[in-house]
Amino acid sequence: MSFEDSLWHSTAGGSFTPRPPLPGDIGVDVAIVGAGYSGLWTAYYLHRADPSLRVAILEREFAGFGASGRNGGWCSALFPPASSGIARRHGADAAVAMRGAMHDAVVEVGRVAEAEGIDIHYARGGTIALARNQAQLARAREIVEDEHAVTGDIERLALLSKEEAEEHARATRVLGGTYTPHCAAIHPLRLVRGLASCVEARGVSLFERTAASEIKPGAVVTEHGTVRAEIVVRATEGYTPSLRGHRRRVIPLYSLMIATEPLSAEAWDQIGLRRRETFADLRHMRIYGQRTADDRFAFGGRGAPYHFASRTRPSFDRNGRVHSGLREVLVDLFPVVADVEVTHEWGGALGIPRDWHASVGLDRARGFGWAGGYVGDGVATANLAGRTLAQLITSQENGLTRLPWVGHSSRSWEPEPLRWLGVNGGRLLMSSADRSENRTGKPAKRARAFARFIGY
Ligand SMILES: Cc1cc2nc3c(=O)[nH]c(=O)nc-3n(C[C@H](O)[C@H](O)[C@H](O)COP(=O)(O)OP(=O)(O)OC[C@H]3O[C@@H](n4cnc5c(N)ncnc54)[C@H](O)[C@@H]3O)c2cc1C
Repeated sequence: MSFEDSLWHSTAGGSFTPRPPLPGDIGVDVAIVGAGYSGLWTAYYLHRADPSLRVAILEREFAGFGASGRNGGWCSALFPPASSGIARRHGADAAVAMRGAMHDAVVEVGRVAEAEGIDIHYARGGTIALARNQAQLARAREIVEDEHAVTGDIERLALLSKEEAEEHARATRVLGGTYTPHCAAIHPLRLVRGLASCVEARGVSLFERTAASEIKPGAVVTEHGTVRAEIVVRATEGYTPSLRGHRRRVIPLYSLMIATEPLSAEAWDQIGLRRRETFADLRHMRIYGQRTADDRFAFGGRGAPYHFASRTRPSFDRNGRVHSGLREVLVDLFPVVADVEVTHEWGGALGIPRDWHASVGLDRARGFGWAGGYVGDGVATANLAGRTLAQLITSQENGLTRLPWVGHSSRSWEPEPLRWLGVNGGRLLMSSADRSENRTGKPAKRARAFARFIGY
């Protein structure tokens, strides 16, 4: 029941021996708490913007321990909220700018990985989202119409017929779907481990096994000493509630994954996913999968319970009901995997803000920067966050620093037990909406809206 159980860990290569902890009190220009994508990309672009800056990263476990080392490997242009939500809150131009920036982020991750010699198994095959009942088909039309109404043709999100969808993935009961080219399948842990080595080689100090207990203006307090810094960046995403004073900023929601043994060439001929397209269907309780570079399925989904008081524990990475449910869903999608062995089961926590709106920002007066609340779409978004924070910190205002998520503030989550009741109630409602849509083919819009209202 740990980080080591994941497919990514067993195929990452390299050593996981932790780097030394903070040796005592130090002073730097920028202190970053958390060595996942958000923290590491911030350090990477800070160093590029100004190599003379003294940057230190403090990591409670080791680089990549969090969601960055465990995720589904969709390096996608998905951004929470969707374009229509951004247009409603911030205007249509802002939504178009955000969409363009996310497209660029997908490309930028692949570009930097190649330039830095990090082999992340990057394959930009796009995403196929299948509609497998009438309600999902109606949703596919709505999503495409909404996206086109706001962003015109820049999204290049296409509505597919049954035959076109099956060209990408021959799953059961396909009625149609959507396709976007703006996604790459990657090996997530290789990316985060490679980035850590890369920033360290450039002179960034990376202290592992160093837990921050408190972030104060101009200082990070840890068990090994205090780091004084002009700017402190919080990059702890789903783990943020463990920091004093930040307990209700986001909730940690567990997403769980399985991986299969490698499949034969004949099986893949039946399935498709020839360009390693990432795939999902359009159910409410999100599922996501990829064909890995070594021809396995890595497949995940939500549905695990939210734990009281936003707790995170290694034991929450496993849930028999959800893991066996994932296997059933995968077999339901692609019956050819019925006899294929599931070799890995794991999970991790991602961060959800109260309004499901990701944000990045810098409060210069308090010397405090932050990034996160990516709602499960953080792989490419954290790259954009890192570039944006580096620009904000080095006072290089540009197009990125004017994007609508910069400085966005989400209200705090409710105190317990309301939070537990709302999130878990909403989760059950979402599952029942999916069951009802499967049975009746009618969209369960009200259940979905209510689930979101009460927290999920
Ligand atoms: C199972 C799963 C599947 C996912 N699939 C996808 C996907 O396919 N595509 C996608 O875009 N997104 C996906 N996500 C979300 C994505 O992985 C995250 O949004 C992203 O990795 C967040 O990066 P981060 O650096 O902000 O946070 P993290 O990677 O979680 O890093 C935070 C780090 O902070 C450290 N930390 C925490 N508290 C402290 C402290 N007090 N002191 C010091 N260090 C601390 C942690 O140990 C951790 O290493 C998935 C998430 C999960 C869990």
